[in-house]
Amino acid sequence: MFRTENALILREVRFKESDRILTALTADAGKMTLAAHGALSKHSRIAAATQQLTYAELTLFEKNGRYTVREGVTKEGFPGLRQDLGKLALGSYFAECLEQYAGEDQPEPELMQLGLNSLYALSEGLGSCEKIKAAFELRLMTLEGYAPAEESCPVCGRGDIREPVFLPEEGQTVCRACRKAGRSLPLTENALAAMRHILHAPAKKLLAFRLTEEEQSLLSAVAESWLLHCSDRNFPTLAYYRNLKL
Ligand SMILES: [Zn+2]
Repeated sequence: MFRTENALILREVRFKESDRILTALTADAGKMTLAAHGALSKHSRIAAATQQLTYAELTLFEKNGRYTVREGVTKEGFPGLRQDLGKLALGSYFAECLEQYAGEDQPEPELMQLGLNSLYALSEGLGSCEKIKAAFELRLMTLEGYAPAEESCPVCGRGDIREPVFLPEEGQTVCRACRKAGRSLPLTENALAAMRHILHAPAKKLLAFRLTEEEQSLLSAVAESWLLHCSDRNFPTLAYYRNLKL
């Protein structure tokens, strides 16, 4: 039986002489495993469409619950990622996060939109890597039900949190004066406003905030530590990205 899916290729693994096994994200069916026979051979018609970090319309053949890619048309290849090792590494980290959080056999339209928009922003340079990364991480956690608490200080109840600090073990934002022992990460009022924007803005406006470089690095530390805390695992692609930046 044939069906068509628009798929973002999250991961490709070489298999046998010239096959690829793909992990792909689709809007309609979530995460899927696909076989792309001959994709690595010289004259393959599906070579480009089955590359990691490519968005493509794939024609799939299903037999006994296994899917094979029969045809593929690239819809977006994110060329900016292939010309910059740092962007490619960060895009791979986004893909690893999406693979971690996408469900199977269930629609994932919001994850798909976040993934595509973030890769596009990265490819086109619509913001710094650190800005796009922080927005991706915080929005992903929000979509997955792990939105950090940011409305008011849970200790004193103030809505205008004074000299805000983020508690990455609790996912709470408190006033500097209200924090207790334990790890805390400083924010500024601007950085907190940007965090609130990322949590609540329409998808297309996700990057419509401005921070100084210093404030951005505060927000980046909060976003990354919150994602790592919620995920309770390491991401090899993140370590690789960090190594490149050093
Ligand atoms: Zn307080």
